Amino acid sequence: MLAIRAVPAFKDNYIWILERGGNAAAVDPGDARPVEEFLSRSGLRLTAILATHHHSDHVGGLAELASRWGCPTFGPAREVAEKLDTRLREGDRFEVPGIGVTLEAIDIPGHTAGHIALTGEGMLFCGDTLFACGCGRLFEGTAAQMMESLAKLARLPGDTRVYCGHEYTVSNIRFAQAVEPGNAALDRRKERDTAKQLRGEPTLPSTIADELATNPFLRCEEPAVVAAAQNHAGRTLASTVEVFAEIRAWKNNF
Ligand SMILES: [Zn+2]
Repeated sequence: MLAIRAVPAFKDNYIWILERGGNAAAVDPGDARPVEEFLSRSGLRLTAILATHHHSDHVGGLAELASRWGCPTFGPAREVAEKLDTRLREGDRFEVPGIGVTLEAIDIPGHTAGHIALTGEGMLFCGDTLFACGCGRLFEGTAAQMMESLAKLARLPGDTRVYCGHEYTVSNIRFAQAVEPGNAALDRRKERDTAKQLRGEPTLPSTIADELATNPFLRCEEPAVVAAAQNHAGRTLASTVEVFAEIRAWKNNF
């Protein structure tokens, strides 16, 4: 049976492990050491490494793990990362070696220029693009690009499980409540995810349905979100992209 494990790294990163039959595939191993410790504790063999984008907290351990285990690596076609065997672009499908799961790449530029997501079998690995109740910062892309990338992810089935790269959920919910204080689904989510955090559990995965109901960056056409963005900007915002950009800038300084 396929299992997905969260290996914490650095302050708030998650390295996701797909595990089946004694084999493991690591998604976004920013650091080799916690992965090695997890593998040795669990008696697993690393059979593949997957990467969503080039930031070092996502690929910093990739080369070391790949050479130690001799396993194939998969990552974005349009970004430079050392030791990528297979470079993926929109629509590319591949079977994860040793795991028997087929994933498909989706191009989602915005956080970085070549960022990809990997989806299949009801799962989404989206790195630093879609976060639980938030989205990544715009380091190499525009607000319009990021909005289009998020819209692609939002079109996945509602029960798709969302595995993102960081544990930011509870602070993201605080911001979402500032944008949309009347959203009852947000209140329920805050209660649920705060309880998980207090128990020391990951708040992830969330689902696409959770995000559609609570994530302000997917709700830029909701009248309450438009009104909050315009109020924060102190002017009328002419388009959904402007609403998105205003909320993204607001979050940067929240
Ligand atoms: Zn990043």
